Amino acid sequence: MNSVLNNPRSELHALQPLGEGTSDVESLPSYFCRLAVSHSVSTLALSRSIAQRIEHDVSHQFDWHQRRLASTCESAETWSAALSELTAVPNLDKLTFLSWQNVISRSGLSIVTRGQFCPSCFAEDLAKGRTPYFRLVWESAEVFVCSRHACSLETHCPHCGKDNIRHTAAYVVPGWCTHCGEFLGKEGEMPATASIDPAARWAARQIGELVHAQQTLASTPTRDNLINAISQIIEEMDNGQSALFARRIGVAKSTVHNWLKGDGTPTLKASLKIAAHSGASLTQLLSGDLSTWVCPQIEPQLILNLPQPKPRTRTVKRERNWAEIENQLQAFLVLPTPITVREAGRRLNIDPRLLYLRANMLTRQLGERWKEYLRRRQDEHVVNAWPHLEQACIDIWAEGKSVTLREVIARVPAPILAPLSNLLLNLKDVQSHLMRPDFESEAAK
Ligand SMILES: [Zn+2]
Ligand SMILES: [Zn+2]
Repeated sequence: MNSVLNNPRSELHALQPLGEGTSDVESLPSYFCRLAVSHSVSTLALSRSIAQRIEHDVSHQFDWHQRRLASTCESAETWSAALSELTAVPNLDKLTFLSWQNVISRSGLSIVTRGQFCPSCFAEDLAKGRTPYFRLVWESAEVFVCSRHACSLETHCPHCGKDNIRHTAAYVVPGWCTHCGEFLGKEGEMPATASIDPAARWAARQIGELVHAQQTLASTPTRDNLINAISQIIEEMDNGQSALFARRIGVAKSTVHNWLKGDGTPTLKASLKIAAHSGASLTQLLSGDLSTWVCPQIEPQLILNLPQPKPRTRTVKRERNWAEIENQLQAFLVLPTPITVREAGRRLNIDPRLLYLRANMLTRQLGERWKEYLRRRQDEHVVNAWPHLEQACIDIWAEGKSVTLREVIARVPAPILAPLSNLLLNLKDVQSHLMRPDFESEAAK
């Protein structure tokens, strides 16, 4: 009791959550693990001391990771509040999905229990000098991929091959395997974007947007607004026929009926389907704000065949006339002012990478010509600036000072200096030229 009174600011370290205000916001389990590290205690010890305070009876088999701390359930509410209290850091419920508890059914938010992670996010954290941490979006079972790195989320350690090694242990340092202790991040070797299911990436992005939006919500989203939004979508897309709509999004007729007439609330998965088919974003739907939503214009029979959220847009492959393209490249090669390969690609409406792949030699020639042009231009600028630099050096020496960048910049007009890519080197050249004996004798004349 006394210790609480004597230390009113916070009993636990006031750790700031990571990734606040972004779709990469930290999850509550991650925050909890870092808090344990910060106090140099095990997650088990910390969780027991917290649990004993907030839960009436704590079984001796209590294990903190059985509590779904990032979800919309009671534990998330209790634990985020307790941690806010003990650390004096407000709004720790924003590290969970609690903001959406009225609009996702009680059992409708599946949480990944075995701890998935993006190895590239961890690697990036470390490379940028940040503390690696678990993202809130990784907690959702609807997220399989990292939308940023376009790679699958992992559950296994790349070193020891063990599963469930992210956070289920007494000692957890986010980013390191709890079994073998090796770093879980890995850089590069991105799989081809094509191998990632566009629907999975779309879903990951939607949920990323959701956790981004929840950090600045003006009010807690309500079930009524969600149901109104769904009614509006059914009205506009299917003329108010909920059976048609149910078929469209692939759920039972009775389920939709229960949302509209009963007290049912869609699961996160169902809401994703509604978003995918209606073109509203998941955030718009769940916050019940369709003010900017426009009903998609699609042929009715086409809608029923739409199993995936995103229509494939790149199926039509344009046949290219490479002989004609090579003629164009030839013409570019004799333009009075050279152009870059990128610009050539833009003019021909072709990805420059494809130009290197299909018209390799001409494209490389184009690239070389541009580089040569740049070199020449640079020389012209030096020639142009040279007399100014000479005069500046002479003036500076006359004042008994030594030549510094500051002195030169004060004397030579900026437009003369700006195009010089290596002013220091140019100045050195000018000075060594000025100090040559033949210049001295010329000056003496
Ligand atoms: Zn990532
Ligand atoms: Zn391992």
